[in-house]
Amino acid sequence: MTLVLRKSQDFKIWRKQQGQSKTLGFVPTMGALHSGHEELLKRARRENDLVALSIFVNPTQFNNASDLDKYPMTFEADLAMAEKNNVDVIFFPEYIEMYPDNYRYKVSENAYSNILDGAHRPGHFDGVLSVVMKLFNITSPSRAYFGEKDYQQLSLIKGMAESFFMDLEIIPVATVREEDGLAKSSRNVRLSESERQKAPHIFKAIKNSESAEEAAKILIEDGFKVDYVTDIENRRFVAAYLGEVRLIDNVEI
Ligand code: AMP
Repeated sequence: MTLVLRKSQDFKIWRKQQGQSKTLGFVPTMGALHSGHEELLKRARRENDLVALSIFVNPTQFNNASDLDKYPMTFEADLAMAEKNNVDVIFFPEYIEMYPDNYRYKVSENAYSNILDGAHRPGHFDGVLSVVMKLFNITSPSRAYFGEKDYQQLSLIKGMAESFFMDLEIIPVATVREEDGLAKSSRNVRLSESERQKAPHIFKAIKNSESAEEAAKILIEDGFKVDYVTDIENRRFVAAYLGEVRLIDNVEI
C-alpha cells in the first residue's frame, strides 16, 4: 500500500519512523505520470530500501499562466502507478505547504540557468531549484532521480547539490521515448492528432542533422516555432512549439 502524505511535518515524522539508516530513493514530479516517470521509480526501487514520489505542480517554475492552467492532473492514475511500482509514500503537498513564505526566499544560479531554456523562460530555474531544495529538505533522500529529458535541469540540480554540500546522490536516467522517437512528456496529451504526427520530427531533426542550424531550418520548414537549437559540448538541445505546446529534447552528438 502506498501512503499519501500532504504535510511536510507528516513526511518528516514518517521518515524518522522508518529509521534514518534506511536509504530513501526520491523521485520528484509534477504528476500526470507516464512511462518516463515510471523508469525513475523502477530505478529508485531497485537501489533503495524506501521509495518516495512527490507530486507538486510548482507554480514558481511556470513563466506562462496558461501553461500552468492547462497542466494535466491525473492523481488517481498516478496513485495506481505508484502502487504498481511499490512506492512507499507519495508526498502531495498544497502550495501553502511548500511556500509558507510566499516565495520570499529562493535559490538561484547565475550562469548556466541563463542560457537555453533559462533564456526563454525567465525565472524558470529559480523556481525549479527552490522547489527541489525544499523537497530535499523535507524528504532527506539518499538518492534523487532525474531524467535526462530535462538535461539542463538535471545539470543545475547536480550543481546545486554540490555547491550546498548536500548529502545525497543525484542519479540521471536516460530519456524514455515513444516508438516513433518522441520523448515522453506530460504535455504530449495536449497535442492535436496532426501535431502528434509531426512531433517526432523534433528528435529526428536534432539526431540526424549535421549542425544545429540545419536542424533549426528543417523544423522551421516543418511548421515548428523554434525557440533554439544549440550545441553545447557533446549535446544538442532543442525547444520548439507545435501550436501552443512547447516541446524540449536533447541528444548526445
Ligand atoms: P516532470 O513531472 O515533467 O517535472 O518530470 C519529473 C521527472 O521525470 C524529471 O526528472 C524529468 O526529467 C523526468 N522525466 C520526464 N519525462 C521523462 C522521459 N521521457 N524520460 C525520462 N525521464 C523523464
